[in-house]
Amino acid sequence: MTRLSELTTIRVGGEPGKLLFADTKEELVTFAKQVWADTDKWLILGCGSNVVASDDLSDYQVVLVETKGISVEGGLVTVQAGEIWGSFVDLANQNGWAGIESLAGIPGTVGASPIQNIGAYGQEVSSVIESVEFLDYELGEVIVLDNEFCGFGYRDSVFKRGRVGVVLSVTFRFGKADPAELISRSEEVVALRRSKGMVLDKSDHDTWSCGSFFMNPIVSESFARTLPLDAPQWEVGDQVKLSAAWLIEQAGLSKGYALPGSKAAISTKHALAITNRGGATSKEVVELARYIQETVANRFGVSLVPEPNLIGIS
Ligand SMILES: Cc1cc2nc3c(=O)[nH]c(=O)nc-3n(C[C@H](O)[C@H](O)[C@H](O)COP(=O)(O)OP(=O)(O)OC[C@H]3O[C@@H](n4cnc5c(N)ncnc54)[C@H](O)[C@@H]3O)c2cc1C
Repeated sequence: MTRLSELTTIRVGGEPGKLLFADTKEELVTFAKQVWADTDKWLILGCGSNVVASDDLSDYQVVLVETKGISVEGGLVTVQAGEIWGSFVDLANQNGWAGIESLAGIPGTVGASPIQNIGAYGQEVSSVIESVEFLDYELGEVIVLDNEFCGFGYRDSVFKRGRVGVVLSVTFRFGKADPAELISRSEEVVALRRSKGMVLDKSDHDTWSCGSFFMNPIVSESFARTLPLDAPQWEVGDQVKLSAAWLIEQAGLSKGYALPGSKAAISTKHALAITNRGGATSKEVVELARYIQETVANRFGVSLVPEPNLIGIS
């Protein structure tokens, strides 16, 4: 029997009541409709790199997305949801398809990339997504959503804000660039990410995580002025983005911090990642996350919002 701790990068989560492996698009559609008909406790799972699942998932039904296939037509590249993101970035670089080279090293599937509009080092996947093929839960049918209907924002999309369903494939429109330059940019980014424990490595507990656990908070300019002068800030329209990592460390929670006796800890390389030091439970991860939120709220009056999807956890 498979536990979600075996299918997620933070390696926590119990055994689901049902686990279905979808290898083809037809299976993905059939299984999704099947679980939707059965229960409201279901999960569509890619590589599990942005999920924290409860230790008790016995009443959950999980569909694992393993669909493969990449086609190129008329300047557009269509990729099935279960393709691995990192391998796709390599392929794009080799073909001189520009626009995702800085997103190298992010774990996960292509199908999950629009969900939170993955981003890093100045790039977001939304800038090259043409459209998303989507099995819509409400409509019960497959539709194609053009980029403008995906409501992309910072780590955000309509898929995170209540448009429920399954991404079946993603179609990209890339720019053109010299493959050597794209490959070199990816290598540079991956080296940087590795130094922060942001590239999966099973021998390094700092990477047993969901990447960043909290989003960088966006606050009003007037609120930002109440913070210490050295607090990193970036303008976003008429608002200000803060560094969640800075807030956590300045609130007194340093890298490596763990609650007494807990096997969940802040990464020793990056204050924004909660990591499993081996054998941690979902409960321990959530307790640490809550403690960080309370400590930052008490010190700075800022609410940190978790980035990963919490499954079976209130
Ligand atoms: C070490 C590390 C570093 C990371 N760095 C970054 C980073 O730099 N930038 C960034 O943006 N993210 C980062 N992440 C987060 C994560 O890699 C991305 O969010 C990734 O897109 C998740 O893909 P996945 O296949 O693992 O999705 P999962 O974790 O399996 O699922 C995530 C969510 O998407 C939903 N989902 C997955 N597939 C589908 C589908 N086909 N249709 C509908 N819903 C679906 C799931 O239900 C769930 O709600 C990092 C994670 C780790 C562990």
